[in-house]
Amino acid sequence: MDSLKHDNKKYENILDKIVSRIIENESFRKPAIFFIASEVNILSLHEVGYIPKILAEAKSYFQQTFLPRTTPIQYGEARQFISPIFRDTCQSLYFGVIVQCQKEEIDTISKYIEAISNGIASSYSELAQPKQSVTTEELLMTADYEVMFTKLAKALVHCWAQRDTNHHLTIYNMKHNRLIAMGSSKDLPISEITLSGEFENNLLSSHRIPLIMKGSLFIEEKDQRTYLIFPIVFEEKVVAVFSFSYQVEEEAYKEKSNYEWINRLIPLFQKGYGQEKEKEVEKRKDILMQVAKKFHSTIDIAKVLDGIVDAIKKAYPKFKVHLLISQEWQVNEELPIKPFLYGTRKSDPLVEQAYLSGRVQLAHALGKDNIFIFAPLRGKQGVYGVMEIETVDNSHIPKEEVDFIKVLADTGGIALENAELFQQSHKLIHDLQLINKTSHQLNLNLRLADTINFMTRQITESFGAEHVGFIIFQSKGESIVLEGSSQLFLEETIIEELAPFIKTVKREKDAVFIGDTDLQNINVLEGFQSVLAVPMIQNKQLKGIVIAIHRNKNHFSFDNFKLLQSLVHHSTLAFTNSMLHEELEKLVITDHLTRLHSRSYLDECIQQSLMNDRKGTLLLLDIDNFKKVNDTFGHQVGDDIIIQVANVLKRNIRDGDIAARWGGEELAIYFPKVDVEIGLKIARRILRAVELETSPRVTASIGLSHWSSNDHDITLQKLLKLADQGLYDAKETGKNRVVVK
Ligand code: GH3
Ligand code: MG
Ligand code: MG
Repeated sequence: MDSLKHDNKKYENILDKIVSRIIENESFRKPAIFFIASEVNILSLHEVGYIPKILAEAKSYFQQTFLPRTTPIQYGEARQFISPIFRDTCQSLYFGVIVQCQKEEIDTISKYIEAISNGIASSYSELAQPKQSVTTEELLMTADYEVMFTKLAKALVHCWAQRDTNHHLTIYNMKHNRLIAMGSSKDLPISEITLSGEFENNLLSSHRIPLIMKGSLFIEEKDQRTYLIFPIVFEEKVVAVFSFSYQVEEEAYKEKSNYEWINRLIPLFQKGYGQEKEKEVEKRKDILMQVAKKFHSTIDIAKVLDGIVDAIKKAYPKFKVHLLISQEWQVNEELPIKPFLYGTRKSDPLVEQAYLSGRVQLAHALGKDNIFIFAPLRGKQGVYGVMEIETVDNSHIPKEEVDFIKVLADTGGIALENAELFQQSHKLIHDLQLINKTSHQLNLNLRLADTINFMTRQITESFGAEHVGFIIFQSKGESIVLEGSSQLFLEETIIEELAPFIKTVKREKDAVFIGDTDLQNINVLEGFQSVLAVPMIQNKQLKGIVIAIHRNKNHFSFDNFKLLQSLVHHSTLAFTNSMLHEELEKLVITDHLTRLHSRSYLDECIQQSLMNDRKGTLLLLDIDNFKKVNDTFGHQVGDDIIIQVANVLKRNIRDGDIAARWGGEELAIYFPKVDVEIGLKIARRILRAVELETSPRVTASIGLSHWSSNDHDITLQKLLKLADQGLYDAKETGKNRVVVK
C-alpha cells in the first residue's frame, strides 16, 4: 500500500530488531508476517521465510480491514494474532503476527505474541511515550478543571507548545465569516482571516473529519503550508477552529489519522463553549438585575446615571462610555457625562439620529478601527439622552450584545424618567403646599406686616432669595415699602435706588426674570445679579411689586419665577379683597427712621382705645433746641439723635403701649388703660433717660393729656390738642419738663 512507504522509520527499525531476535532464537515458525499496528492501521510489516500465496492474500486482507482485536481473526487457513505493546486513551500500539495455524495452536501462539509484546514495552520505552497527543486528563488539569471554552483552548495550546513537534496549533474563534485567533502554540501567525461562506459549509460537513487546506486557499497566497482543520461545531454552527500547520503537504495527509485524540477532546470543548456562553448570559442577566434593582430603589438622578455607567463598565471593562444628557441634571463630577447640544454644529448626526428615532445606531469611527454604539436612553414619555460606547478594536459586535446594551439603556431611560417625574411631582407638591400655606395665612386676617413677614420668609426659604421686598405704589405716584419686607428693603434710600427699575415696571406692567444683570444690562440694586420681580395687579391696576434678589448670577430657576408669580397673584387678591386700598396705605405703620409706628397708626390705636377702654394717657415729646443740634453737628447726627430718643422710648414702655413718630423731631406715646399719675411717672422717667442716654446729649419736653370714662366728650382731636398745649407750656416754662393738661 502506498501509505506503507511513509511508515515511520522508527517502527520499521524496532520491528527489524524484534524479528531478528526471534529468528536468532528460532523460537517461532516460518513463514510468518510480523507487524506493528496502531489503533487504526498496520504501521510496519516484516516477512519471515517464503510467503505462500495463501498467506500473501491474508496479509492483504488484514491490512485493509485492520482491527485491533486481541482474539485472533481468521482468514482462510491464516490467522492474525495481536497484543498491545501499550494502550492509552490517546494512542495505542500493537505487536502482531499473521500466520497459518491450526485451531489447537491458537492458545500457544497468543501467549507467545503476548509475551513478546510485553518485552517490547519494557525494552523500547520510547515507543510507550508517543507524546504527540494531549489527553483529556492533561487538558483538564492545565485548565484548572474549568470546562470553559477559552480556558480549555488556552490549556490545549499550552500543552501542544510543550510537544516536540513543528506542527503548530492555532485556535481561532469564529465570528461571522471571520476567524479570530485566540491562541497559538507558536507566535500568532495571522490574527484574523476572512472566510468565504463556502468555507464554512465545508467546515460544517467535515464534522469530526479534519479538513486539509492549502495555505493559498486558507490564509494567503504566499503561504505554502498545508493545514489540518478541525472545526468545533456548536448548535449547528462552526464556533471555533483548531488548525495544525505543516511545511510538507504529505505530512498533513499522513498525520490525518493520528489526530484521533482531537476528536476525543472536541465534546469537551463543545461543552465548554455552551457553559461559557451561559455564564456570559448569566453575567449579563446579573448586571441587569443589579442595575434594575438599584434603579427601582432610587429616585436620585445622579445615582441612576452612575448606575448606567457602572453597568457598562462591568459588562465591557475595556469600552469607553459617555452619557450625552439633554437635561440639566446635577450629577457627580466624576461621571463621564457630555452635554448633548441638540441641533448645534457640535452634535454628532448619529447621536441626534439615536435621540430622535429612539433606535440604536452603530458607526465606525473615522480613520479608526473602533466602533461607536449610540444607544438612546428611552423612557415612556421621551428620550432623555444618548449613551455613547466606543469599542476597543474593530471586533464585530454581535446582535445579542447590541440587544443587551439596548435593554440597559432602556432600563436607564425609564429610571431617569421616574426620577425626573418624582422630582417634578415633589416640586409640584412643595409649590402647592407653599401656595396653600400662604392662602391660609392670608385668610387669617392678621396684621399685614405679619403676613408680609410670613411671605418674605417663605420666599427666602423656598427660593433661597437673599432679600425680599413688598413695594406698594400709592395714588400720588410715590412708592412705599411694606413692613415685613426683609431688612435691606427697609433702608431709607431703597426707594431712591429702585426708582429707575420701578419706573420700568410701571411702564411695562410685566414680571421680570433676570439671571445676570450684567448680561441683561439692567441695574436693579447694586451688587445683586439675580432678580425676580412680579407686579401686583388688581382689576387691571398696578398696585405694587414684589422683588426677590440674590447677589449670585443665575440663582433663581424659571420654576422659582413661575411660582413667585403664582404666589403674588394669590396674595394680591387677598390684600385687596380683605381691605380697601386706603386702609392698606394706612397700614404702613412704621416710620423708617425710628422704626416707631406711623402717625396714622397711632391715631387708629387711640381711636380704638377711646371706644374699648376706660382710660388712657398721651405723651407728646419734642426735643429741645434741636435746630441747634442740626446746626452744630449736621443733619446726620440730628437723625441719629432722633433714633436715640426713639430707642429710649422703646425701652421705657410695655408691649401694649404705642410709640410713634409724630413728625420731625416730635414723638408721641399712647398708653391705653393708663391713668395720669402713672403717665406722669413714665414721662419723667423718659425725660431723665433722654438726658442721660443721648450723645451728644439732648433734653426733651413733654406735653401730657389723658382721659377717663368720666370725660364724655373726649375725642382724638381733643386729646391731641391738649397734649400739644402741654408741650407748648413746657417749652415756655424752661424746657426739659412735663406739663400735664
Ligand atoms: P425747641 O426746643 O423750641 O423745640 O427748639 P427747636 O430748635 O427744637 O425748635 P423746633 O422744634 O421748632 O424745630 C425743630 C427742628 O428740627 C426743625 C428741623 O430743622 C429739625 N428737624 C425736624 N425733623 C428733623 C429730622 O427728621 N432730622 C433732623 N436732623 N432734623 C429735623
Ligand atoms: Mg419741634
Ligand atoms: Mg424741638
